[in-house]
Amino acid sequence: MDCLFCKIIKREIPADIVYEDDEVLAFNDINPQAPTHILIIPKKHIATLNDIEEADLAIIGRLQYTAAKLAKERGFAEDGYRVVMNCNEMGGQTVYHIHMHLMGGREFTWPAG
Ligand code: AMP
Ligand code: ZN
Repeated sequence: MDCLFCKIIKREIPADIVYEDDEVLAFNDINPQAPTHILIIPKKHIATLNDIEEADLAIIGRLQYTAAKLAKERGFAEDGYRVVMNCNEMGGQTVYHIHMHLMGGREFTWPAG
């Protein structure tokens, strides 16, 4: 399968990996939009948020749990941070393997652009 993030999971493409377990991989975004900008992905290939099935619910929860864990480790959990998941073209998705953006270390505005 020609998926960039699956290739990162299989170590066919290098990435700056910051966390891994049986279900989840996290690595620094190549084009960071904040002092900390980590992508948290399921090891299972799921193309978009629309493709999540009921059997995937635990994996999705693990993405969010991992984001909070990494935010605490890095010391910005209490100050606050932003998590984002983009879906399809209008949502700004460019890589079609779902990923949670964890951004911290600066103040974020709302609404998002
Ligand atoms: P999205 O636009 O929500 O699909 O986010 C895709 C993200 O993947 C962007 O923030 C990119 O900077 C990031 N990205 C693309 N290629 C790589 C890569 N090889 N390693 C790490 N991050 C990447
Ligand atoms: Zn994939």
